[in-house]
Amino acid sequence: MRFEVSHVLDAIERRLTTEPALARGVLDLAEVVRYVDLDGGRPATLLRLGMVVDALARHLAEEGIQVYCVVDKQLLSDLDQPSSERMVIRRWADDGHVEVVQGSGMRVRELNEIAGLPIISRNLPGLAALPGAGGAVITVRGPVPTAPSDLGRRLMSRRWRCPDPECALFAGMRVAVGQPLPKLRGNPLCPRHDLPLADTGPAPAQDVLAVRVNGVIKQRFLVTGAGPVTVGRAPEGNWDSDSRSIVLGPWLDEGGVKAVSRNHVVVAFDHSGLSVKDVSMNGAWIYPGGDKITPRQPRTLGPAEYIELYPGVEIGRPGSLAAGTGTVGSVLVDAPTMSFRLPPA
Ligand SMILES: [Zn+2]
Repeated sequence: MRFEVSHVLDAIERRLTTEPALARGVLDLAEVVRYVDLDGGRPATLLRLGMVVDALARHLAEEGIQVYCVVDKQLLSDLDQPSSERMVIRRWADDGHVEVVQGSGMRVRELNEIAGLPIISRNLPGLAALPGAGGAVITVRGPVPTAPSDLGRRLMSRRWRCPDPECALFAGMRVAVGQPLPKLRGNPLCPRHDLPLADTGPAPAQDVLAVRVNGVIKQRFLVTGAGPVTVGRAPEGNWDSDSRSIVLGPWLDEGGVKAVSRNHVVVAFDHSGLSVKDVSMNGAWIYPGGDKITPRQPRTLGPAEYIELYPGVEIGRPGSLAAGTGTVGSVLVDAPTMSFRLPPA
């Protein structure tokens, strides 16, 4: 049972990001874990974060969506929260998956107003998370921001470094996962350590791409000028979301497993913008049009273009890939039914 819970928490961890360009909303973890109405269970549990993530995925008709999770420091000593879960939150904070701050409400508003992230909450304007089928449902309540403010754009166009050597948020080496929005109190500060951040120069150019399989977006990922990203059935490298490769294998059917190469395309930023290079055995095609990409030659990816590796397996900017109509999977599929039961859908 314990193993299964940790399995679910690992799955939830992959849905957390502190890069505003990848996050689809911001939430206050202390509020979500105490949202008893969702399941009528114990006073505080991290599994409710999974319910809200699932609800947002259904709302957006997209899998693998990520949220920017702000954790009030007090939650780390909240005795209603099982100690094993408090340990998990501490680990998430140490690894930079979430932000631990003094006063989460103010920080959530800042990420909303400056980074342009919709707030996912019970009562605030934005995306309302309400009890419903499958645990939670998301309803749009009032205006939802879609882009950072001018100030946010300026802040995020620089790289920042926190003077705390242990800092996971502004370590100056998060090129694969981007960087959080600095906290602004006169000067840019680290939201975790409340120390002034050093400006280390312009941020590398970046863009967000997505993988769509059979009409459903499975994952968004960041491509930065700091280095290429390899996409394929099983690219060499790590399997975690921080690595510079995107693993398609688990989403492929039998035909896809045969047709998609271990390393299939390499996506990079070069002088002309975002480019793709076909390094596969079987080729890749560019749409609209359906032309085969010349193998081993970088090809600039226009704003409305996407590439196909195999019928139904596509990569492009999220805007070039229509939202899916298929059923999106759940982050809670492995939740133990003994201790945690989803309300009937
Ligand atoms: Zn810091």
